[in-house]
Amino acid sequence: AAQNLRIPGPTPMPESVRAALANQMVNHRGAEFKLLLGEVRARLANIFDTQNEILCFTASGTGGLEAAIVNLFSPGDRALMVVGGVFGERAAAIAQAFGVNVTRLEHSWGSACSPIALRDALRANPDVKVVYLTHNETSTGVTNPLGRLSQIVHEESKALLLVDSVSGVGALPLETDAWGIDVVVSASQKAFGCPPGLSMLSVSPRAWEAVAQSRMPRYYWDFQRLREAHNEGSTPYTPAVSVFYGLSAALDLMEHEGASARFTRHQRAGDMVRNAVLDMGLGLFADPPHNSNVVTAITLPEGVAPKDVRDEMRARYNTVIAGGQERLKDTVVRIGHLGFFSEEDLTQTLEQLDTVTKALARR
Ligand code: PMP
Repeated sequence: AAQNLRIPGPTPMPESVRAALANQMVNHRGAEFKLLLGEVRARLANIFDTQNEILCFTASGTGGLEAAIVNLFSPGDRALMVVGGVFGERAAAIAQAFGVNVTRLEHSWGSACSPIALRDALRANPDVKVVYLTHNETSTGVTNPLGRLSQIVHEESKALLLVDSVSGVGALPLETDAWGIDVVVSASQKAFGCPPGLSMLSVSPRAWEAVAQSRMPRYYWDFQRLREAHNEGSTPYTPAVSVFYGLSAALDLMEHEGASARFTRHQRAGDMVRNAVLDMGLGLFADPPHNSNVVTAITLPEGVAPKDVRDEMRARYNTVIAGGQERLKDTVVRIGHLGFFSEEDLTQTLEQLDTVTKALARR
């Protein structure tokens, strides 16, 4: 039987996405794919809430982030990167690997980036070319107040704004244009309920200017080459054709539900999971009010190990929840509630978690 997958991505695929994935292959340089690519890009722009161009790389989310970095910077350019978890760390590590001069603004794992700290960091570093923010830090269960933080970036500087919203787009409010976000990075296996394989990005006119000036070596990840191919209705290299089939089906569902209902559903799920976690005597790793509505990081009672909880959930119920990543490995378990799930799914998972943690606490 299929497992009850309750991790923050890949997320369970709806039936219509699964059916679409079974479609026969087409020529990726032919008329059918051209139509599909055009349709999917236009509809993604709507989900990203932007007039900016959408690029689709055959890649995981990390590939999309690396692409953004090698296209926006030249070696030695300065970046202010806000780091408060595994994914902020990763973005900073990628930039450093390519010789970007990175200033990190660290905030404690489990808290959000403070607007005041960001303002001070921008004043102390007036010459940064790009500011990087993680929208939803999947490792800690924190959603940064992106609207407010974006506003501060624009008030204090002319820097470009790069946002990792791999686990946010489609599930959490994100106003790409109103908030002036130059590059947003997402991925197919999160709120879109598709298989991994596509990283979707939006790129603003200002970002395109930086791309034209950037001297960073790149080939596969070159934005300009991908843009030119997209304008012709194709991709420079063979794309993950099937994931496009899936995305088109997922977009049907997402559009049918509508943005505000989608955001409300995730908000309700977040509230429900957090209330249940506290009711069963477990803890929330993230500080309110910036708890994520797509993933909850849960702390356990003394003597109850995350690994044991996950093993028992799997053994008893075939339910798969996520562990903590890196330094949070022995600290939290995480439940994903993004994309296509029902409240029933979550209620069931929470009841199972209650039974398992109580049983383990008695051992
Ligand atoms: N950023 C965030 C916020 C994520 O949640 C993830 C995936 N968990 C990534 C980046 C990396 O995406 P991928 O695993 O698809 O490379």
